[in-house]
Amino acid sequence: MTARPENAHQARILRLLRTDGPRSRAELGDVVALSRSKIALELDRLAALGLVRSDGFAASRGGRRSEIVRLAANLRFLGVDIGATSVDVAVTNGELEVLGHLSRPADVRDGPTAVLDQVLEMVAKLRADGVVGEVHGAGIGVPGPVSLRDGTPIAPPIMPGWDRYPVREAMSQELGCPVLVNNDVNMMALGELHAGLARSAEDFLLVKIGTGIGCGIIVRGEIYSGVSGSAGDIGHIRVDDHGPVCACGNSGCLEAYFGGAALARDALAAARSGRSPFLAERLAEKGALTAEDVGAAAAAGDAHAVGMVREGGRKVGTVLAGLVNFFNPGLVVISGGVAGLGHALLAEIRSVVYQRSLPLATGNLPIVLSDLGGTAGVIGAARMVSDHVFSA
Ligand SMILES: [Zn+2]
Repeated sequence: MTARPENAHQARILRLLRTDGPRSRAELGDVVALSRSKIALELDRLAALGLVRSDGFAASRGGRRSEIVRLAANLRFLGVDIGATSVDVAVTNGELEVLGHLSRPADVRDGPTAVLDQVLEMVAKLRADGVVGEVHGAGIGVPGPVSLRDGTPIAPPIMPGWDRYPVREAMSQELGCPVLVNNDVNMMALGELHAGLARSAEDFLLVKIGTGIGCGIIVRGEIYSGVSGSAGDIGHIRVDDHGPVCACGNSGCLEAYFGGAALARDALAAARSGRSPFLAERLAEKGALTAEDVGAAAAAGDAHAVGMVREGGRKVGTVLAGLVNFFNPGLVVISGGVAGLGHALLAEIRSVVYQRSLPLATGNLPIVLSDLGGTAGVIGAARMVSDHVFSA
């Protein structure tokens, strides 16, 4: 049974130690606004619960030196990031530093049993490596809409077989710890908030451009999920009434133009028609094309591929300009596999947003590429479940 804080003060102390690292008793007392005797009482209780430990003494502020407190060394969270084409599993300590991280190719269309079995195998591998002992909580991100109340995917367009599958219940039983499930894009946004470029941002947007396109919304340091959990599903905003048919069944969605599958489709057409010599050569070599090939072609200066990236960037930028007008974020982080298309894409998105959004909204609005690589989703998933475990 995972130990939990007994009251709101203890929960606040645990979250502070998680996010800011070790602190002296005096500093904690200042931040939590508790008297010296009250903070000592709460810290003693947390130590008795096995959640915090002593870590030496701080330099004197005049008078007695204050004891340094940090989270218990054996706290472990699992962060699981189930993508359309890969599974990542990481184990972190209480401060959410990654102690071990495995990434394997996987097809989410194989269904929940196969994919979750693979997750459990990866956890077992991390256990065998000695980085996981007792697990205090696991967060799981999946590439589709999730009912937060039930911990189940709901009619996810790219996850056949997962509709209403009890992911939270099944994994909680297997792992023997609290489990929370959420959309993968929300997890990436939390990862950026904890460890990425959004560390000092309270209100920001994380736009993921991968197999699908989605947006994580952070308001006052927390995920905004909407009433039923589907906030930020920008991939299905219509950008053209007569556009290509989308996986969701509608037509002209942003994702149907610039998601990973759409790019692969357009790359194939460009290769076959001879419009892109680079992609034609790739296709002859490999027999198939992906969004990464478009990135490689653009990087190599293939004019048609550069055009594809620019056109996609313009469409993303158009949708994002509307979001910026509506939400007035302090930062926009662009992430995901297709974001690997890099600075050409970023330049196009920036130019459209700065041109089309209101000056007051863009006056001080950085639009940046994530620097967390593949770890944002797992760190965010661990952060989500740590918020739950570190609550009264
Ligand atoms: Zn759609």
